Amino acid sequence: MPAARCEFCTAHPDREFAVSKWLDDPDERERLTLWLCNKHLARVTKAGAKGYAHDGHFFKAGFW
Ligand SMILES: [Zn+2]
Repeated sequence: MPAARCEFCTAHPDREFAVSKWLDDPDERERLTLWLCNKHLARVTKAGAKGYAHDGHFFKAGFW
């Protein structure tokens, strides 16, 4: 079921996206899918391996 808002802002989400999420150590990542707006989808994608920082966590595209 689509979420009502983007995981990172109040915008309407555009699609569900597979991401890895971690706190300090990228090797200790959690794999999950988030509903994101196009803006945040682009930010997470562009952040690459170093991850997009949000709320003390890091997020990157894909599970690897
Ligand atoms: Zn957003």
